[in-house]
Amino acid sequence: MVKRIGIFGSTGSIGKQALEVIKDNPDKFSVEILTAYNNHELLVEQALEFDPNIVVIGDETHYTKVKDALSNTSIKVFAGEDALEEVAAMDCYDMMLAAIVGFAGLKPTLKAIENKKAIALANKETLVVAGDIVMNMAVENQVPIIPVDSEHSAIFQCLVGETRNKIEKIYLTASGGPFVGRKPNFLVNVKREHALQHPNWQMGAKISVDSATLMNKGLEMIEAKWLFNLHPDQIEVLIHQQSAIHSIVQFEDGSMKAQLGVPDMRLPIQYALGFPARIPNNYPRFDFKKFSTFTFEEPDYRTFRNLVLAIDALHKGGNLPCIMNAANEIAVYAFLKNRIGFLEMTDVIENVMCKIPFIESPTLEEYLDSDAEARTLAADIIRL
Ligand code: NAD
Ligand code: MG
Repeated sequence: MVKRIGIFGSTGSIGKQALEVIKDNPDKFSVEILTAYNNHELLVEQALEFDPNIVVIGDETHYTKVKDALSNTSIKVFAGEDALEEVAAMDCYDMMLAAIVGFAGLKPTLKAIENKKAIALANKETLVVAGDIVMNMAVENQVPIIPVDSEHSAIFQCLVGETRNKIEKIYLTASGGPFVGRKPNFLVNVKREHALQHPNWQMGAKISVDSATLMNKGLEMIEAKWLFNLHPDQIEVLIHQQSAIHSIVQFEDGSMKAQLGVPDMRLPIQYALGFPARIPNNYPRFDFKKFSTFTFEEPDYRTFRNLVLAIDALHKGGNLPCIMNAANEIAVYAFLKNRIGFLEMTDVIENVMCKIPFIESPTLEEYLDSDAEARTLAADIIRL
């Protein structure tokens, strides 16, 4: 049976790689929904190639352009933020690939879960912002949430066949990003173009900056807590610069399972789309001869303070991860626009985390409000 996929965020790094996977497996997957925020040219190009049922362009000012370009087809065109939710609730697809970046991915994903769609989850911010609500809703609706993030895919793969066995701890591996080993006196001067050069992965701009600050690993710790129902103390970060071991699970007998492979996001994407089946492919294979050593180190918490802030949010819970995420999104975009320096991102996030009132068990509305308040405050601090 062909699985009908809705790719939310199809013009991004994950979205494009997912389309490669689908193109290689036309007998297994079809594309029914494609969405983009403002890259209307690529959205149209993808639509003409993959012939989905529906496309959504987030930025409404591009609606007519997309509509006109697809006027000779039967593809339905929607526009605007609300359309993402409307389309997520439709019957025309089986599985959502949640590949929108940031908080914007939350509402469409909740809508999909409510409508009993399986989720292949790339958008980690969704779980950082409202992990309890998302996971509870998934359980209520008996919807699987299959991680696409490579570390979480690794853990998920290690857990197959282990349903009755408890996790003692997990090791989340981290490449360390482009500035591994660097100190504040270097980081104070780094700019957008340096931060966007990740050694092992080609990714969107926001996650590339998050990888450079190690905030990405902090977000991933919170993501792991919700996906695998862990206590914060069960999650440890290990810098492993080769990015060959994608993460490790340690069980109660002390035995560990790790998942390895070439750092190629098509692998976790393919695994999530095809789960539980593994699909043959001809992507490059891992070559041990190229790796004489695997190294493991503690992160430099004194330098990469975003990770410390995220660990604090992980422990305290409530709306703090949501607040941190919102402040981080504003800080990262300000850095990308050269409005603030690399180290100033941490100051903005810390400041916002201290000032927005803490709520222990927020409702969805309260999460949305905390997000909005944190954004406004972060923008005020930066004077955007
Ligand atoms: P990207 O910036 O390359 O793409 C983002 C996609 O989201 C684009 O299609 C864009 O049009 C859409 N989008 C952006 N803002 C939007 C908005 N406000 N409303 C609707 N759509 C919007 O990002 P990416 O690197 O593909 O990452 C996507 C998600 O996957 C992120 O949450 C990221 O953390 C996660 N992730 C990415 C990678 C990777 O290798 N790129 C790895 C692991 C996890
Ligand atoms: Mg990751």
